[in-house]
Amino acid sequence: MTGPSHKQDDAPLRCSAQPRRHAVGWCTHCHQPFGEAWLLVRTDGRAICRGCRGALGADVLDPSVLRERDPLRRLGWWKSAWHLLRAPHTRVAALLNAEGGRIARYAYAWSLVGSVAWLAWAIALEPQLLERLVESRPELASRPRAELLGWLALAMPLVTMVRLAAGLLALRVVAALSGYDREAWRPFARLFGLSQAATLLCMVPTFLGPLAFSAFWAMIMMAGLRVLGVQSLGKSFVFLLPTGIAMLSWGPHPLPLVGG
Ligand SMILES: [Zn+2]
Repeated sequence: MTGPSHKQDDAPLRCSAQPRRHAVGWCTHCHQPFGEAWLLVRTDGRAICRGCRGALGADVLDPSVLRERDPLRRLGWWKSAWHLLRAPHTRVAALLNAEGGRIARYAYAWSLVGSVAWLAWAIALEPQLLERLVESRPELASRPRAELLGWLALAMPLVTMVRLAAGLLALRVVAALSGYDREAWRPFARLFGLSQAATLLCMVPTFLGPLAFSAFWAMIMMAGLRVLGVQSLGKSFVFLLPTGIAMLSWGPHPLPLVGG
């Protein structure tokens, strides 16, 4: 068996308006199950679907007072990154079971900050690094150092995007092969986004930064995978390895930048 075990045992209840979505409750008027987008709360506390609400003209509560604010927004980016790095096992669940919070921007920002820090330290600590990087390209090797640094700075935002896309794609493939459908996949994508907070550790100089980043990234991912039902260590590695390799090939990693 490959899929998540709950699939056969108790199939999730589907929204009667959008069967692709999970139901979160029943309308107390028509008694049909509905997803979050279709269910409202009446002023007396009873749930009502949008269809019945339209027909009855019932007063409903403003949905914004019912929804808990995304902890990513409530805590702020720095604090949630700090929480994830300090205690991933206790903190990841709360951050994972939420939507929004501009998770894509969060992932991109930390990933870019970490990647730039990693490259800046590498160049600062090994002045010849830049020359050795372009050694095999004579047309680049003759250019002034400032110009090469400029090009590198321009390339980083793009490389960071490729880095995140590569990791996300690898994770998506593993999740699909493990039987998670498109809706079940979303928290995995969010977890990958949250895990990018670990890239901040690349601010620590030398190989120690990228080493700490790799270790903490794996820790946050594993804590999150447990929350998402991937319990065994072996299965966690099946998720982590392709994702990690795809991501590390495009940014901070603990190995020297050029051999020798
Ligand atoms: Zn109804």
